[in-house]
Amino acid sequence: MSAEQRVAVLHEPERMSVETRPVPAPGPGDVQVAVRAVTVCGSDVHYYDHGRIGGFVMHGPLVLGHETSGVVSAVGEGVDAPAVGTRVAVEPQRNCGRCEQCARGRYHLCPWISFFATPPVDGSFAQYVTVPAGRAHPVPDALSDDAAAMIEPLAVAVHAVGKADVGPGTRVFVSGGGPVGLLCLQVARARGAARVTVSDPVARRREVALAFGADAVVDPGEGVEIEPVDVVLECTGVQAAVDAAVSATAPAATVVLVGTGAQVTLPLDVVQGRELVIKGTFRYAHVYPAAIAMAASGAVRLDEMVTSHHGLDGAVDALLAARRDPDAIKAVVRP
Ligand SMILES: [Zn+2]
Ligand SMILES: [Zn+2]
Repeated sequence: MSAEQRVAVLHEPERMSVETRPVPAPGPGDVQVAVRAVTVCGSDVHYYDHGRIGGFVMHGPLVLGHETSGVVSAVGEGVDAPAVGTRVAVEPQRNCGRCEQCARGRYHLCPWISFFATPPVDGSFAQYVTVPAGRAHPVPDALSDDAAAMIEPLAVAVHAVGKADVGPGTRVFVSGGGPVGLLCLQVARARGAARVTVSDPVARRREVALAFGADAVVDPGEGVEIEPVDVVLECTGVQAAVDAAVSATAPAATVVLVGTGAQVTLPLDVVQGRELVIKGTFRYAHVYPAAIAMAASGAVRLDEMVTSHHGLDGAVDALLAARRDPDAIKAVVRP
């Protein structure tokens, strides 16, 4: 292993360059992972464009990328698993392990959480990263490197769908046909949902949603009446979509707010009159093993969502792929 590695660094919005940096050594309890694939997330694009997401603001150079797979290349003191050579999906968060939230098992809500590519913590557009050994999850040969990277957004969907009681017979409405919406659709299907409807204003995205197993798709602009559903997975954070999603609910339905947005309003009369259950969701905890099993079984198709590959020098092209190509779903960076 060389002592230096190449890293794609975002210096300020729209200014990125590849630099040489030292390879990080794994500290006690950590493993070092040689990165194989990083899939681009909408949040990476948002940092590239604006240098911030809400309260998370870049105050210095930042390495983007948090959807990561690789091979364990070194282990720190006290680590006996996973061993060097193990292919892993990287869960990109590190919690304190001592606070109330950590003690209660909600480690993703730890106030001292650090998460890849969230300022000031660097991400994985790099050849090597280090993570706690327990956050490097072994993956079976059935999963490609690209699919193993996509366990991260799949974990978001597994956690979000897990917030609602989705099982055989559940009628589900997925608001938004982007990558997270497509993953929520597939997870709801895998859990036995009876009917999944996906809403998106873009015709191509509606076609893709049908290809990934949606029973029906709707164009929210057409104001079509939707049959009432038991569960809404709102993946846009956009007011008009939230309004449409809430109006599609049956009494006592659960609305899971997955998409992020600055602020939306909810119609109190509908929320109260139908006794809706509104749930927030933030990242995930404890779901990587389930997500890996779902992907390995074929219940969720990840490779089919990959639409382009780029080297580290093409990281900007990867970030802009979704904007330039209407057929793009997920771009992959292979450092
Ligand atoms: Zn993401
Ligand atoms: Zn904590």
